Amino acid sequence: MRSSQEIIDRAEKLGLETYILDASDIPVEDRGRLKCAYGCRGYGKRLSCPPHTISINEFRRILQEYSTAILLIEEFDMSDEEDILKAWSRLRKPSFHKMLELEYEAFRKGFTYAQLLRPGACNECDTCADKCIKPEVRRFPPEAVGINLIKLTEKLGLDIRFCDPKHVKCVGILLLE
Ligand code: SF4
Repeated sequence: MRSSQEIIDRAEKLGLETYILDASDIPVEDRGRLKCAYGCRGYGKRLSCPPHTISINEFRRILQEYSTAILLIEEFDMSDEEDILKAWSRLRKPSFHKMLELEYEAFRKGFTYAQLLRPGACNECDTCADKCIKPEVRRFPPEAVGINLIKLTEKLGLDIRFCDPKHVKCVGILLLE
């Protein structure tokens, strides 16, 4: 019998905070795409992000086929970092790998459609080629498909602050079915 508790226990051993969700409670909005297309310095550069991802509407339809999800958070104090963008790039990679390990674990436990939405844009390679060279690890971030993480974390009573180097969070979502 498969159990999300085993995945949660594993996540906590890896140092991740976990919050179990009904997939129907995940807010998906169109307006997030504006922030990607008009304002993100990485727009178009990473194959994990718009305009290279599935559309927000496709994701809405897919999300309806999931019942449960786990919000995953790893927090870092980056107040001593001189270059916070460089540090963010360095930190989100191991955080992503922990979360990806959970996706694999969930698959092995019987959640055949387990799918991770990763923290931040994919940075498995220095740059993306025309075609992804490691498609087996390519995952998209929640924001890339319109998930409003602020609304979601507010619903859970969590405080997500941007531009706060003392509390930088890598946030992922593991969809389970
Ligand atoms: S695996 Fe490499 S090529 Fe593929 S999206 Fe990630 S960084 Fe880009």
